[in-house]
Amino acid sequence: MFSEIVNQKFDEVNNLYNTDFQILDSLKSFILEANDEELFLINPYRLAKKLNINNKSLLKHLFYLTKVGLFDLNWDVHCTRCNWVTETSHSLKKVKTNSYCLNCDFYIDVSFDESVELTFTINENIKTIDLPIKFDFPEQIKSEINTTIESGKTRTVISFLDPGVYTFMCPITLAKGTINVNNEEPNEIQTIEIIYSDGKFAPNNINVMQGSITFLLKNEMDIEIGFILYPKELPKLDISLLDDRVSGFECINMPEFRAIFKHEVLPRRESLQVKDVTFLFTDIAGSSRLYEKLGDIKAYNIVRDYFDILNETIEKNEGVTVKTIGDVVISSFTKASNGMKAALDAQKAFNEYNQRDDVQYKIILKQSLHTGDSIVVNLNDRLDYFGSTVNMAARIKNLCMDNEILTTEKIINNLGVMDVLIDSGINKIKRFESSLEDNEEAVKIYKIDTNVAS
Ligand SMILES: [Zn+2]
Repeated sequence: MFSEIVNQKFDEVNNLYNTDFQILDSLKSFILEANDEELFLINPYRLAKKLNINNKSLLKHLFYLTKVGLFDLNWDVHCTRCNWVTETSHSLKKVKTNSYCLNCDFYIDVSFDESVELTFTINENIKTIDLPIKFDFPEQIKSEINTTIESGKTRTVISFLDPGVYTFMCPITLAKGTINVNNEEPNEIQTIEIIYSDGKFAPNNINVMQGSITFLLKNEMDIEIGFILYPKELPKLDISLLDDRVSGFECINMPEFRAIFKHEVLPRRESLQVKDVTFLFTDIAGSSRLYEKLGDIKAYNIVRDYFDILNETIEKNEGVTVKTIGDVVISSFTKASNGMKAALDAQKAFNEYNQRDDVQYKIILKQSLHTGDSIVVNLNDRLDYFGSTVNMAARIKNLCMDNEILTTEKIINNLGVMDVLIDSGINKIKRFESSLEDNEEAVKIYKIDTNVAS
């Protein structure tokens, strides 16, 4: 029954999309042989590694299989301290600006690139999976104790605790408790017995003095349990040290995702932070002259060419078009280097376009690039960005002369961007200062003269 439905869904995908036979084949074998745990909250990059498939290609095929109903998307919100999944939902419309971590007793400011992860679970109508979300305690968090206790056994652990508040928990059953360590010095060895029974630790609120403590951990349940003891107030987690995962932001920056899941947007009136996004503004120089010279219909055809060529260069460099305002195309990238590469590629593509014999009007570009934090919002049921980074990119574009790419210190200081400029043969970057608005402090602007680019 299960295999029949799986086969049918794969056939559907094969008919609808431009697929890779080998990728589909290994995905199908994986699904048919996997146990429940393996089909629950699948991290695509971990699966890609296991199946030896390129990350983005696998992700694309998972999108297809989701669209035909074999998988559900999960938007998992992670605690920025303990990495615990505080919430998960099948729709981006349910992701909120804040989330509460029960484990850390802490409200998270949800950021689209740092705390939202996209995973996949087999569609609940095809297979019901009833599993709790496991707590993967990140190795990089310093724990005082991290052990397991077999059913019916007692484990003895000695730990040296400084004054403070500590949490202990079982990552399997999620039972937990608190230890308050005061700054008094004990006269004798302190021994604490903690019994796990009926799915709970007893006692679960313990007061001790600082120093060496002998823990007697007794498991009276018929399953193995875990015991992790760590400071209650954890510092912010460095997510770059965690396993690779598909961030929500990375996902909305994939053209395939935007094309397949047009309606996956945030709830209205909610906004999510993005810590690091690069915006590219591209415009046609003197477009009003274009309409005057050629008339509306011919001019429109040229502008269509412009949109098509530009879209292609944006998508080729892993970016997406956020929106167009008149002839201005605003695109976003997860990496500054990709944004710069797209700007240079666009310049090159229009240099070639302008040399074609059939071209009636030469398209001259003006482009600006800036990077920083932003907020993602739902504007008229489309994902859009707001904030000072996108405003600054827009204002810099207004300073642009023909064939120029203007950018900022943050972009120029990015190592990947430098490599892209060197690879493209750019050896002239001029710097000037300009205040972008009246009475505002001047900012450093960098001018990349693409006339020398190869
Ligand atoms: Zn937490």
